[in-house]
Amino acid sequence: MPVLFALTCQAKNNIIPGFCRNSYRLKKINNPFAFARDLRVLEGRLEVAGLERLHDLLAETGGTVFWHLEGERGQRGESLLRLTVSGGLLLACQRCLGATPFDLDIDSLLALVPAGAELSQEELEDDSRDFLPVEHDLDVAELVEDEILLALPVAPRHEKCGLPGVADDGGRVHPFAGLAGLKGKLN
Ligand SMILES: [Zn+2]
Repeated sequence: MPVLFALTCQAKNNIIPGFCRNSYRLKKINNPFAFARDLRVLEGRLEVAGLERLHDLLAETGGTVFWHLEGERGQRGESLLRLTVSGGLLLACQRCLGATPFDLDIDSLLALVPAGAELSQEELEDDSRDFLPVEHDLDVAELVEDEILLALPVAPRHEKCGLPGVADDGGRVHPFAGLAGLKGKLN
């Protein structure tokens, strides 16, 4: 049997990269609406090495993130999922590509809607939650990866970047230095 499993795994690996290395990829919620309605709870951890869509943004792909998913009912009976994700990532600084530590602290409220459903204007304007279209099952690892991507800074940089790029500027005056001087004169 282990051989059979390995073969299956190999086959699927062509479709879903990282499938074999990360058994959590198997973690799917079969009926997300029932999960929310029954106020169920699920949690686990994910190896950053398996979250491949993040890799371009990272300086290092080691480490683990922790997630917690909880079903909730909204005031009007909506099916909600609250997802929290924590853990540390080492983002690549946009200047020197060195590691910039970033602490994940995600707390998202997601309203489940059937895939293809039209949202009302009221729903679209509701900033308290995001809408998550679901068809049949919900791939938890994919959801966690999506939410992490949304939470990351667009251009992470070291606060004091060690890159000798300041010298590369050829001693050019910082564009705002002139403004600061002007401001001083006006005042
Ligand atoms: Zn840097």
